[in-house]
Amino acid sequence: MTVRPALSVVAPCFNEEGVLPEFLARVGAVLDRLGSGLGGTAEIVVVDDGSRDRTWETMTKAAAQDSRIVAVRLMRNHGHQLALTAGLSICRGERILIIDADLQDPPELLPDMMALMDGIDGKGGADVVYGQRRAREGESLFKRATAAAFYRLIGRMTDVEIPLDAGDFRLVTRRVLDLLLAMPERHRFIRGMVAWIGGRQVPIVYDRKPRAAGESKYPLSKMIRFAADAITAFSVVPLMASMTIGWIMAAVGFAFFVYSIVGWLIGHTLPGWTSLMAAIGVLGGMQFLMLGIIGAYLGRLYDQSKGRPLFMIREIVDGRGGGPE
Ligand code: UDP
Ligand code: MG
Repeated sequence: MTVRPALSVVAPCFNEEGVLPEFLARVGAVLDRLGSGLGGTAEIVVVDDGSRDRTWETMTKAAAQDSRIVAVRLMRNHGHQLALTAGLSICRGERILIIDADLQDPPELLPDMMALMDGIDGKGGADVVYGQRRAREGESLFKRATAAAFYRLIGRMTDVEIPLDAGDFRLVTRRVLDLLLAMPERHRFIRGMVAWIGGRQVPIVYDRKPRAAGESKYPLSKMIRFAADAITAFSVVPLMASMTIGWIMAAVGFAFFVYSIVGWLIGHTLPGWTSLMAAIGVLGGMQFLMLGIIGAYLGRLYDQSKGRPLFMIREIVDGRGGGPE
């Protein structure tokens, strides 16, 4: 068996020829500086997500010069989260740094993240060190406002504590990564999935820089799809709403039924009106209720089909002195 590198840096790249050389140089320099502090070798896994520019050529040229670089090319554009998943499933490191290729997240933060993961001042180490954005320079007001609204909305819709204002920039242990890769769900909202795994997750606050070059590969259409994936993967609130509406409509329908019967009893109706209205009230109400019930089962079926583990054990200590590990 080959020895694992101590660290893998994983970055998805879509049309990033403009920033890739600088990205690889800066990550390379950080790794050089860490040197033996790393406790082993490192690799840089860059994934070309079906780019239409010279991203792939840039990567392979760099890989020919630096043996730490692993260039991966996908068949076509799969989107940020899947390109990242591809890189994560290929990397071999004991620790994994997830980072965007556009240098908005500074790779120079790595030594601090490693220290937080090691644990300092007798405090235990971390399973995940995630970057939390303080300032977001060079990003439009629209982008910042929609992002802030999105993280607050999803925070209210799910029990999972998804950190506010955090992207995918984070350092995770091999153990967390293996749990992440074992989750077979197809619509992957990676920052939520990592939060769902739990363990000790600590933030590191940083200022988000403007892109080093090129423009955002997240137009509004992709942002909406991303938000929809996140909400449907982590919340059944929309489905539950159909159940609530079902109950309300059933109550309204029944009231209508009673009202039309009473009207008939006191002779306030045209012939035929009572039977028609009673039938509409009861049938309409029942239909909404049944839809709500179907929604409830669908929600459970959906949960089941995500195939997530039921629980994840952090450690076991037994009385025979076995202890952790
Ligand atoms: N990206 C990708 N595939 C895509 C879109 C984006 O691999 O279809 C990569 C992109 O190259 C970058 C990261 O995902 O490394 C984040 O994208 P971007 O910086 O454009 O998003 P923003 O920071 O504007 O939200
Ligand atoms: Mg970016």
